Amino acid sequence: MRLVDAHCHLESVLFAEDLGRIVSEALDAGIIKLITSTISPDQWDLSRNIAQRFPAVEYALGIHPWYIQESYRARIPGLHRAKELGAVAIGEIGIDRKIENGDFLLQMRFFEDQLAIAKEIDLPVVIHCRGAFNELIHSLKRIGSPQSGGIVHSFSGSAELADELMRFGLSFSLGGILTLRNSRKRIEVMKKIYPNHFLLETDSPDIPPVQKKGEINYPKYIVYNLQAAAEIVGDTIENVAQNTTRNAFRIFNLS
Ligand SMILES: [Zn+2]
Repeated sequence: MRLVDAHCHLESVLFAEDLGRIVSEALDAGIIKLITSTISPDQWDLSRNIAQRFPAVEYALGIHPWYIQESYRARIPGLHRAKELGAVAIGEIGIDRKIENGDFLLQMRFFEDQLAIAKEIDLPVVIHCRGAFNELIHSLKRIGSPQSGGIVHSFSGSAELADELMRFGLSFSLGGILTLRNSRKRIEVMKKIYPNHFLLETDSPDIPPVQKKGEINYPKYIVYNLQAAAEIVGDTIENVAQNTTRNAFRIFNLS
């Protein structure tokens, strides 16, 4: 079985001590590629180092809406070099109305500026969006989207919204939330996005599957998400693995 963890955070301090073991356990679980997403410019060099150390790891450069600081604004133009530095995506970028004390207008500016660079250099985007899908669509209409598309990770919207986002070339990665009790809405989304616009993720060290509730999440736990996805879409584990891996290779231009 060949799997891709389309979204994780190997830069996390929780993984710092033991990264070699964590990556090798991921490979043992069937993962052939992991795409680690940075959350702030302070991680950009680290992320690149991790990708150089482990052939299975690819990386994305970006500034996550939760970690925006005015002082990071000057770092955004540096993303123009992302492709030549070997990054496979711009991310994790996005907008989030559910965080307290968030300056939403500043989030929008950071998101749109990073989206515009991704489009310009044609790297796919890794998008985080909570409670702000209307604004997301608005930004996509205003700025456009990269030719290579991208993913909305841990997607929580409706099937109709998925349809609309697919028109911008976007796909969707889901992880631990698949193992929770699934609403009719989630099942409809999965039927809409599978097989061609669905990817597997772990978002580790966050969002563990229900089987590991309360624990640190690791990429190797992707198998629980795979199992849950197969049950929801009514396909075999092998087919879900094959389809999600093919989608990840296409979107992130992996080889
Ligand atoms: Zn994330």
